[in-house]
Amino acid sequence: MSRSKTGARLLRAPWSACLLLLGLVLGHAEAKVQIVTTLPNLASIASEVGGEWVEVEAIAAGYQDPHYVQARPSYARRLRDADLLIANGLELESGWLPLLIDSARNPAVRPGSAGFLDAASAVPRILEVPGGPVDRSLGDVHPQGNPHLDLDPRNGVAIAAAISRSLAKIDPGHASVYEANRAAYARRLGDRIVAWETRAAGLRGQAFVAFHKEWEYFGDWLGLRLVGYVEDRAGIPPTPRHLLDLVSTMERESVGTILLAPYNDRKAAEGVAAEAGAEIRVLATQVGATAQVPRYEDLFEEALNALVAAAPPSH
Ligand SMILES: [Zn+2]
Repeated sequence: MSRSKTGARLLRAPWSACLLLLGLVLGHAEAKVQIVTTLPNLASIASEVGGEWVEVEAIAAGYQDPHYVQARPSYARRLRDADLLIANGLELESGWLPLLIDSARNPAVRPGSAGFLDAASAVPRILEVPGGPVDRSLGDVHPQGNPHLDLDPRNGVAIAAAISRSLAKIDPGHASVYEANRAAYARRLGDRIVAWETRAAGLRGQAFVAFHKEWEYFGDWLGLRLVGYVEDRAGIPPTPRHLLDLVSTMERESVGTILLAPYNDRKAAEGVAAEAGAEIRVLATQVGATAQVPRYEDLFEEALNALVAAAPPSH
């Protein structure tokens, strides 16, 4: 919004318009790969891999529920000039991305082309893949398995490798740079993953409740047990009966913490927390959700700061 206003002001001044045109010409001489990602976490990983040779923009903001992003026309305009579109996949964006891809009319980034990357395809193990047919009338928003795979940083490393491969195809002249960036990023994340696992050792086996089935990969990574959810089923608001059952599960399992993302309905969770004597922890799930998480790795730092502090002392 603010950028287009600034652009309009520049165009009203003739000398500024000349400078703008000059900038466009110079910019074209060293054209960067234009990357659009659906989610901010993917944008953070893509900028680490692409470095100075890419320009990256995410469609969704970090405080938005990735299942329910409004497909605004401005998003289609961003996609129109993109060289690479990176989506999470597993139908996380199925409510809004197909519409945007259609209205962008950019064959380079359509699924199946070199300029489209489905991040989930790079992840070695998808959790909660349904065994039988899925009844969407029940409101299941995870029909192909749990799509919240970026909350395991090991998957972030795998996604970075897939982005490096995509960039090497689109911009082969800088393939070695992308590979070097990827390797450096993998080392940096790898070191932090070891440190996070050590810090989280006391959380292993502890029971948690979440609002949505969003923390399964995080829990799978660190050995947390997710024993209940505030929403009834994925994408379906809770009934009073469901909340009563949840309170008794929490008492039985000694759950002290309910995990919420910034966009979850805090009111429903507050009632449960009060009944069960638990605390609510609102944790960012995407980069930019709060000022504390400007980069992908900061998500895990923030989550561990909150959860390790909340953990009961181990004996
Ligand atoms: Zn979900």
